[in-house]
Amino acid sequence: MEELTEDQIEELRQGLAALRRDLQAILATAREGARPVDLDLPIGRLSRIDALQQQQMARASLAALELRLRQVSVAVAVCEAGDYGYCRKCDEPIGYQRLKARPETPFCLACQAGAEARR
Ligand SMILES: [Zn+2]
Repeated sequence: MEELTEDQIEELRQGLAALRRDLQAILATAREGARPVDLDLPIGRLSRIDALQQQQMARASLAALELRLRQVSVAVAVCEAGDYGYCRKCDEPIGYQRLKARPETPFCLACQAGAEARR
C-alpha cells in the first residue's frame, strides 16, 4: 500500500475535524432520543412498548456514534502526532482510498478483515 502524501494527510485531517464536529452535533441530538421512557406517563400499553423499542434503538445507535466519535478523536490525535495513516496493528500504510472512505479507521484492510473473522 502507498504511503500518504502531505496533501492527502492534510485533506484527511480536515475531513476528520469536520467529522468530529458533525458527530458531536448528532450525538447531542441522539442523546435526547435515548432518554429513559417515563413509565408513569398515561400513554397506553402499545405506545409504551413502542416508546421502549425506540429508546432501545436510540441507545444502540448512540453507542455506535460514541464509538465512532472516540475513533475519530483518536485519529485526530494520531494526525497531530504526525503518525497518521499507519495500521495500529501491523504498522503498514492503511492506504488513501480506505482512509478517504473511513478516515478514523485504525487498521488496514487485512487486519480489519482478520479481526472481523475472529468475532
Ligand atoms: Zn494492518
